[in-house]
Amino acid sequence: MAVQVEPQVDPERRERLLAIVDELGPAFRERSPRYDREASFPFENFADLRDAGFYGLCIPTRYGGLGASFADYMQIGAAIGSYCPVTALTFNMHIQTVLWTGTAADDLDMPDDVRAVHEERRSALYRRIIEDGALQSQPLSEGIAQGATRGFATTATRVEGGYRINGRKIFASLAGAASDYNITCVETSEDEILFLAVSADDPGVEIVGDWDPLGMRGTVSRTLLFTDAFAPDDAVLLPPGLYNQLAERWPYVYMTLTPAYMGLSKAIIDFVREYMSSQAPPGITSRRDVPQKQQGWAELQIMYERSRALFDRVVEEAGVDPTPDALARALAASYTVMETAPQLAALAIRVCGGLSLLKEHRLEQLYRDARCGSTMLPWSAEVCLDRLGRHGIFPDAEG
Ligand SMILES: Cc1cc2nc3c(=O)[nH]c(=O)nc-3n(C[C@H](O)[C@H](O)[C@H](O)COP(=O)(O)OP(=O)(O)OC[C@H]3O[C@@H](n4cnc5c(N)ncnc54)[C@H](O)[C@@H]3O)c2cc1C
Repeated sequence: MAVQVEPQVDPERRERLLAIVDELGPAFRERSPRYDREASFPFENFADLRDAGFYGLCIPTRYGGLGASFADYMQIGAAIGSYCPVTALTFNMHIQTVLWTGTAADDLDMPDDVRAVHEERRSALYRRIIEDGALQSQPLSEGIAQGATRGFATTATRVEGGYRINGRKIFASLAGAASDYNITCVETSEDEILFLAVSADDPGVEIVGDWDPLGMRGTVSRTLLFTDAFAPDDAVLLPPGLYNQLAERWPYVYMTLTPAYMGLSKAIIDFVREYMSSQAPPGITSRRDVPQKQQGWAELQIMYERSRALFDRVVEEAGVDPTPDALARALAASYTVMETAPQLAALAIRVCGGLSLLKEHRLEQLYRDARCGSTMLPWSAEVCLDRLGRHGIFPDAEG
């Protein structure tokens, strides 16, 4: 039987999926302040996403998913982010596992027998996601080093039928909400990076520490401790050795934290437009009649459009084996989106004025959430600057 392969570009599919986001979005936006206040996970939003079939958003239709492409996902993530940045950021962690094991893995080199095993494992994973609503997370960070393929001290030791996992992951978004923690760890005998799933129910997994951050509070990114947790062989989500190939050949997967902040940027623009448009009571000058505020509003639009244009361009050209210039553009896009969001938020507060700082307005939360993006590894703003600072002027610089 011929395998049904999704068309990469399908404008009708994207429009249809974006329309679903616009249906769900107003409720996401309404709930967002509560998750922020309580620093609680957006369970209701995820129930809505699940009911809409969005857990399977990037799962190909032949497995029962919605078949969205990488570029579709980036735009859909940004649309979700314009309603609730926290939901977009956490949903991204779920989608990542699907993209890595699906779209990206399809483009990587592996022997036929290895691919057959991978196919079996990902089919089982996709079934669990679609049929059981198994929510995925990607706690990779350990706070040891920057870079996609460095800084992992968590170990996987070979035992009968699988691996024993020991270590610690910081900023584990979806802690306590995900069904699986899909981690990077070092296989002790081979000294290579494995990407594997540890079940949230495993007795060797513990969620520790407080969670009371400045922004993106609903991500509930607490610390995970693994003490002799067990991952069976079929929980290895990428064939051994493939993680480094993924990082090198499909680096766009590290840009997928940007849609949440692209959407957040749009939310700021939407807020300012509405706030500035409102009529002042009699006897008070309307904000929109003040030339300085008009100029600030103009600057906000220019900043947003620059960020959006670069994001759109890179999203549409993303794929396997980017040229050095394309990779540099992706780093520039990441930097731009992550740095523009907090700049927009800061200027928006100046333009809208002091009353916009009150918690009854959305801007105050967006300002705090916006601040988080540029710290996120492996493509933090500083890492993007490091890499772009070498690009093109050293022969062996990697983008
Ligand atoms: C809201 C939120 C949610 C998150 N969710 C997740 C998640 O689900 N999964 C996940 O894996 N991570 C997640 N993260 C973590 C994030 O990606 C970073 O790993 C984290 O912010 C790093 O914090 P740090 O204080 O260790 O930072 P850093 O200061 O960046 O330090 C990390 C390590 O990298 C080194 N380093 C950093 N930059 C450079 C550089 N330019 N050159 C050389 N060395 C460098 C530092 O010296 C240090 O050893 C989340 C973060 C936030 C804010």
